[in-house]
Amino acid sequence: MKQFRSNVIRAGLGALYFTGAHYLLRPILSGVGAIFMLHHVRPQRDAEFQPNRHLEVAPEFLHAMLSHLRSLGIDIIAIDELHRRMAERNFSRRFACFTLDDGYRDNRDFALPVMREFDAPLAVYVASDFADGIGRLWWIALEMAIARADTIEAEIDGVATRLDASTPAAKQAAFDRLHDWLRALPGEHDVRREVTALCARHGVDETAISRDLCMPWDELKVFAADPLVSIGAHSITHCNLAKQSEEIASQEMAVGRARIEEALQFPVLHLAYPYGDRNAAGPREFALARAAGFKTAVTTRPGMLFPESADYLTALPRVSLNGNYQDTRVLPVLTSGAATAMWNGFRRVDAA
Ligand SMILES: [Zn+2]
Repeated sequence: MKQFRSNVIRAGLGALYFTGAHYLLRPILSGVGAIFMLHHVRPQRDAEFQPNRHLEVAPEFLHAMLSHLRSLGIDIIAIDELHRRMAERNFSRRFACFTLDDGYRDNRDFALPVMREFDAPLAVYVASDFADGIGRLWWIALEMAIARADTIEAEIDGVATRLDASTPAAKQAAFDRLHDWLRALPGEHDVRREVTALCARHGVDETAISRDLCMPWDELKVFAADPLVSIGAHSITHCNLAKQSEEIASQEMAVGRARIEEALQFPVLHLAYPYGDRNAAGPREFALARAAGFKTAVTTRPGMLFPESADYLTALPRVSLNGNYQDTRVLPVLTSGAATAMWNGFRRVDAA
């Protein structure tokens, strides 16, 4: 299913490019601006099995996107400035905002130097447990366990299941199966229990992952002092907020923010919902973020910004820079709004 969807997306982007439809559609679909979403920015790696590759782009691809935006005369602005323009309904110039989720060290080492070349701001959303070095990046733990295994055993829906992981293709299939199963488990503790068990069986030090990949507070403090950098909140534990009680979900938002404010000594006004898709952030979370006083909150729902998005500042869509499609030909398709329109069914606002 994932492969099928991936092929459709690829064909869609290719078809849009080759027909030139994105060029014709730009005035209708491109909206007033876009928020780009990234996770890791780092040099491309060789390993064949990279199931989380969609979450990383090479610095060269980021560079190409920034050049493309500049060539179109699009302003690249900070998230605070985006909030100001939306609130004032100031749409005299098209704009783009760059956001990076989770607080990875590679954002500082590889994204910031590229952004600096263009004097372009970026917002980084930090999950406080990740900065505390106790985060559970289970999707990476799963990748590491499968990478070193020949077979993987798990009790899926009550059935003891053994999955082949002896080739890169088998590893990918095993990852897809386990990833979908884990995302569908009812509680955060269920995911934690299963992933911890997998890590124990395959010798993965799960607790080292956030310390290896994410900036701790002292590094974040230096990073955040750069005038191009804004820091936003991304919950405490990086849980699926929609699956939590209202009390826990608000606490995840408020305490995650308070931890950053306490450690970095400045107010945090922007939020990104962990996972951020329809199953992880909906109207209840949008209202909670508004009640918590966040000026903006971003989802991972695909879409461009339109004037009417100003009425839904805690349900903002984004445009993913997806590591599986690092082809400069997709850049004009992404900025035209044609790709996100195709993915979200031509909605201008998607906040329900
Ligand atoms: Zn995240």
